[in-house]
Amino acid sequence: MAVSRTQGALFGTEWTRQELNRLAGLVGGTEDVATDRDKLAVTYPVTGAEIGDIPLLTADDIQRAVERSKAAASEWQELSPDERAEIFDRFAALVENHRQELLDLIQLETGKARQHAVEEFIDVPMTANYYAEKGPALLADERREGAVPVITRTEVVSDPVGVVGVISPWNYPFNLAMTDLLPALMAGNSVVLKPDEKTPFVALRLVELLIQAGVPEDVCLVVTGEGPVVGSALVDLVEYITFTGSSETGRLVAEQAGRNLIDCSMELGGKNPMLVLGDADIDMAARGAVQGCFTNAGQLCLSMERIYVDERVFEEFLEAFIPETEKLTLGGNFDYTADVGSLIDEPQLERVANHVEDARERGATVHTGGTNRPDIGPLFYEPTILTDVPAESLPACEETFGPVVRVEPVSSTEAAIDAANDTNYGLNASVWTADRRRGHEVARQVTSGTVCVNDAYATGWASLDAPMGGVGDSGIGRRHGPEGLKRYVEPKTIASSTLGPMNAPPAVPDSVFARGMMRSTQLLRKVKKTARNLSITFVRKK
Ligand code: NAD
Repeated sequence: MAVSRTQGALFGTEWTRQELNRLAGLVGGTEDVATDRDKLAVTYPVTGAEIGDIPLLTADDIQRAVERSKAAASEWQELSPDERAEIFDRFAALVENHRQELLDLIQLETGKARQHAVEEFIDVPMTANYYAEKGPALLADERREGAVPVITRTEVVSDPVGVVGVISPWNYPFNLAMTDLLPALMAGNSVVLKPDEKTPFVALRLVELLIQAGVPEDVCLVVTGEGPVVGSALVDLVEYITFTGSSETGRLVAEQAGRNLIDCSMELGGKNPMLVLGDADIDMAARGAVQGCFTNAGQLCLSMERIYVDERVFEEFLEAFIPETEKLTLGGNFDYTADVGSLIDEPQLERVANHVEDARERGATVHTGGTNRPDIGPLFYEPTILTDVPAESLPACEETFGPVVRVEPVSSTEAAIDAANDTNYGLNASVWTADRRRGHEVARQVTSGTVCVNDAYATGWASLDAPMGGVGDSGIGRRHGPEGLKRYVEPKTIASSTLGPMNAPPAVPDSVFARGMMRSTQLLRKVKKTARNLSITFVRKK
């Protein structure tokens, strides 16, 4: 562990307790709540030491925060999407200019390895850039086909939904806050962000940078406290809720959103499969599996927890995957010396250990790992590879959300697809084959929001122009791409008629008008059908 560079510096970073207290003072946009409320300690998982605390807000505090955010929205909405894009560009540059400090803060809160902090770090300026580039065009007014050609004119405008609530988790606190918040802002909404209580400081610092970039104060507020109190109060007060977290909590939040008749997106858990086909490059697949299973100590919603390998290459795969995994080093340094960091807290460690013990007791084989490492820190757990895992054991049926994977041989590609689809989840999947085209064909047959071919998750996630989200227990709605922005607008149709009301003019009897209408709509339909057919013929001729 590195030593302190300056007086009061936390674990050799430039962060001090005073500086984190200053960030806590930004909670709810007011000093009052930061000083008066009960506090919750935030710890550095690598040692368990307390690094700061945050106020536990009440439901009344959330109401005040939402009101402040609502009141500030008009100033933000007066800016055009192009002007908002300029602010996003400044924000992206600010994030990049504060790289060292932000990477340290991510590691301080989460205990993750530096390289995994980098992964989430780079996502934020890229997301800001994406919505700065695409947002203005996506939000532009759109002409649509009117009811009657020439006589009517129809357009669709994109109104902001209002105040958007963003509830984010602890595993990727930096990018999972911003990936949903930035498009909400681009669409002209104000936002109240509730980060997980274990990782509040990166969210506070990011919102501070947004304000520095030009987002008016109070347009984007951070509220802290316990999920069931603060998160639940938020869902009752906002016009849209974006939730990232467990499927269990997601169900509660979606139910509450349903009762309030507000729209929502739910980014939830997964039990993601990796399919290694018989023709795959095994060394490449093994390296991909290491990244897919053990990034962020497996605390990644997109990570692989099940690997189905064609039986013809099963042994070869294990022989490559096990030593590749054993090369990984564990540690919590603020540099690139460790490959895998700490788990987040004691319940998370217990969950991982329970899953492995349950599998072991039921007869599974532990090829590597299978133990915690208190010699490195209280919450470290070794990357673990299991085979012969019985179907009724915990890691076979539940999301582990840790550095544990089970590997199984399958008799064919079809069997791999069936096994992959044998789950209630559907967030991410990964297919490995030498034939990329075949990979895409297999991907179509896997029930999942995203499928990556010859990569575990990064190519899918980093395709910011493409939607990302889950099916089944993995969630509803999509982030990223146009879909990630459009969820935050109320499309409003404005239609006008040059001839006034669409009913019979004074001198025309209703019966004549009705016959005329029926004939003209019939004619219109035939004209449209002919046009459609012509275009089909035209395309075929090509
Ligand atoms: P969690 O559901 O316990 O907590 C997530 C967030 O919800 C936190 O901010 C928490 O404070 C808040 N919360 C808790 N109870 C609440 C309530 N009743 N009402 C409103 N908010 C409440 O999630 P977790 O277990 O800490 O996180 C890990 C889970 O998140 C895993 O299942 C993982 O797969 C999932 N996850 C999914 C994605 C994705 O994009 N699909 C990303 C990261 C994590």
